[in-house]
Amino acid sequence: MALSAGTFAAGRRAAVAQAAPQGAQATKAGSPAQDAGLAVERYEPKSMLHVPETHVPRSRFPVIDFHTHITSAGGGGNPSAIHFSMDPANCLAVMDRKNIRTMVNVTGGYGDGLREAIGKLQTAHPGRFVVFTEPAWTRASDAGYSKFQADQIEDAFKAGAKGLKVLKNLGLFLREQGSQKLVPLDDPRFDPMWEAVGSRKMPVAIHTSDPEAFFLPIDRFNERWEELHAHPNWSFHGKDFPSDRELQEARRTVMRRHPRTQFVCLHVANSENLPYVSECLDSHPNMFVDIAARIGELGRQPRMARKFFDRYQDRIVFGTDASAGASTPQQTFGDALYEIYYRFLETEDEYFDYAPAPVPPQGRWRIYGLGLSEQVLRKVYGENAARLIGLSA
Ligand SMILES: [Zn+2]
Repeated sequence: MALSAGTFAAGRRAAVAQAAPQGAQATKAGSPAQDAGLAVERYEPKSMLHVPETHVPRSRFPVIDFHTHITSAGGGGNPSAIHFSMDPANCLAVMDRKNIRTMVNVTGGYGDGLREAIGKLQTAHPGRFVVFTEPAWTRASDAGYSKFQADQIEDAFKAGAKGLKVLKNLGLFLREQGSQKLVPLDDPRFDPMWEAVGSRKMPVAIHTSDPEAFFLPIDRFNERWEELHAHPNWSFHGKDFPSDRELQEARRTVMRRHPRTQFVCLHVANSENLPYVSECLDSHPNMFVDIAARIGELGRQPRMARKFFDRYQDRIVFGTDASAGASTPQQTFGDALYEIYYRFLETEDEYFDYAPAPVPPQGRWRIYGLGLSEQVLRKVYGENAARLIGLSA
C-alpha cells in the first residue's frame, strides 16, 4: 500500500530521522541510514525498554477457548454445508501443549453440516471440542421463518449443539430479500429463536458491531488506519449502516426482552468503552463477555481493564477467535497466540506485542499485562465457560 496521507508520512519520517544516531544524521538525505522515504508500513520500531519478559508456555489453570472457528458453514452455495479449515488432530496437539481443555467451535452451521461438525469434533473427542449452531440466515425473509428457525434450534439441540453463534452480519449485512433493507438486530422475527435457545440453556455467542474506528472515515485521524487500509471492506462508514451505539442498544433490547437467555457478547461487547460495557453488565444480569481478539484494546488500558476483570470476574470468558490463515495475525491459531493471551492475563510485563506479527495489526500500540489473581484466572480461563455450556468444572 502506498501512503497517500502525506502529513502522516512526514510525521513518521521526522520521528525516524530524529531517532538516528549523530553520525547517521550527518549523511546525505536519502541514504539508507536516514531512509528519508520510509513508508509507515515498513516501519517496525523495536522497543528499547529493559523490562521483564515472561514466557508463559502453559496457562496456570485449564482453559476453555470459548471462541474458535475450526469450521465454517455455507460454502459452495449450500447454506448447510460445512468446511473444516483446521485439522482436529493438529488442534489437539496445540491444546495439549497449551493446557487447553476444550475448544468451542462456534461456527458449526445447521442441518447436515452441523451434524458433520459435531460428529468429527464433539463426538469423536468428548470434552475436547464443543460445537455451536448458527441461524439459517438465507431463510430470514421467508414466510414462516420464525417457526422454522425455532424448530432448527430444537433440531440442533437434539443433534448435540451446545450454543448458538450469531455473527456480526445480524445488524450489518443481513438484508431483506427484495427491498435490500437491513434487517434490524432486534427484529421480532427472531424472538422465537432467542426463546428456544434460552429454554434449552444454550448460550448465545453474539458478535455485534465492530471497533468504533470502523465507523469513522479512513483518514489520518483514524487509529486503525493501517488495518482498514489492509481490509477496506471492514469499514462501516457512510452508506446505510447503523451507528455502533445503535447496534449496541438494539442488542440490549434483545437481552432485555429475553431474560432467560444468556448472551455472551463477543469481543468484550465494546472494548474501547469499558464504562459503557460495565453499565450494560450492571443492567443485564443475563449478559457475559468474551475477550477474543481484543487484548490489544484491554491491554492498552490496563488499570481500567484490571478493575473490570475484578468486578465482573464471574461474567468474563476466555476466547481468542482462533482461525486458520495468516491474514489476521491476532487470531492465527497456534502456540504463539495462546502464549500472548497467557502473558497478558497472568503477568505484569510491560509494553509487549498483542499479536505475533512484525507490526501490531490492529493499531500501532503495545500492551501491558494485568497480573490477575488466581481466583480470577481460574474463573476466566475455564470455570465461567464451563457453567455456561454445561461442562463439569
Ligand atoms: Zn469470531
